[in-house]
Amino acid sequence: MHEFDSNKVEEYKTYKCSKCSYSADVSGEKRRTIEGIFETHVCLNCRCVIEVCLGESYLIGSEIFYKENEPLCMLCGKNDTIVWNSEMCKCPKCEGKMDLTRLELNIFSVGKVKIV
Ligand SMILES: [Zn+2]
Ligand SMILES: [Zn+2]
Repeated sequence: MHEFDSNKVEEYKTYKCSKCSYSADVSGEKRRTIEGIFETHVCLNCRCVIEVCLGESYLIGSEIFYKENEPLCMLCGKNDTIVWNSEMCKCPKCEGKMDLTRLELNIFSVGKVKIV
């Protein structure tokens, strides 16, 4: 991944639980993008794996700055979230293990590349 300019590569991932089939399209990591800072969390209220925004971006001249946000669940609007550990990959529904079942990279000049 690191050989690419992160602004020109978009990642699409899906994690799926092998026990209960719950799946989530999340990155599993903290990312800084032009749109903001995002991290994969678990909402304890909804018991879902979600992407939360930790900071919104704004521009001064051509430089990007980030304004910190409280991480809110996009489903219930509450901030009962904790960071999802993508090494444990624990399913929030049944505590089973979630596996990476899809990884696609959309590379600016190459197009979509399917890896998993
Ligand atoms: Zn499960
Ligand atoms: Zn929620």
